Amino acid sequence: MTDHAFSTRIGGCSTGPVASLNMAFHTEDKEENVLENRRRFFKIFDQNVMEIISAIQIHGADLAVIGYDNLGQGAIPGSAVCHCDALLTTEPELALTAYSADCLLIYFAAIDTPLIAIAHAGRRGTLQGIAGKVIKAINKEYNLSPDRIQAVLSPAICKNCYTINSEIAVDFEAAGWADRNYLEQLSSGKWKLDLAAINKTQLLEAGVKGENLEISPLCTSCRNDLFYSYRRDQGRTGRMIGFIRIRSSRGEKRFER
Ligand SMILES: [Zn+2]
Repeated sequence: MTDHAFSTRIGGCSTGPVASLNMAFHTEDKEENVLENRRRFFKIFDQNVMEIISAIQIHGADLAVIGYDNLGQGAIPGSAVCHCDALLTTEPELALTAYSADCLLIYFAAIDTPLIAIAHAGRRGTLQGIAGKVIKAINKEYNLSPDRIQAVLSPAICKNCYTINSEIAVDFEAAGWADRNYLEQLSSGKWKLDLAAINKTQLLEAGVKGENLEISPLCTSCRNDLFYSYRRDQGRTGRMIGFIRIRSSRGEKRFER
């Protein structure tokens, strides 16, 4: 069993462009505001904010395996566990987190064994196939068949809101995403890109069953009331957090606090 969540921008203490529940330090927010926002959010899950784990996201496709040694790496500025875009653990009670404002976060959980992961898939991570790479890594390193993995796609920027230029469109065409379901030309030099649709196909092609895949219908750009959007807010914005944690069996604690 896992606990997992994706925050909104509602209910925090931050003001201005990052109002109000900004979860990331790498914004124009004050550190103490981010910490207070995280406290408010993680209280729901009885999760100590000084023990959450996060990476510096670099729009790549690498995966890091996380253990108890990494506890709290990411809880304060400068403490992040590594530079990568996917975290995986088999240990209960480790709170894996990732941040986004338009990019997709992908949550992974094995159905019948304690193993979770979270990935950050923006345009570049998607182009590098991060979703499929996580599934392949789980299959190879843990001998888990992809049909035993559930995946959830977070709210992200929708196809109608996400326009890209020809240079980027060419990259996606070259990678095999020329179909109109993924990439659609609007006008000369202007294209629409569907990040969720591409990631869905990558997961299905990697062997995840459709019935084990869930996709949020919410768009971070359309829903200004609920979410930050890097594109809509022209970079001056906050970040939502994605969180996933394996529940400890029978409620016992596996490590001393
Ligand atoms: Zn939208």
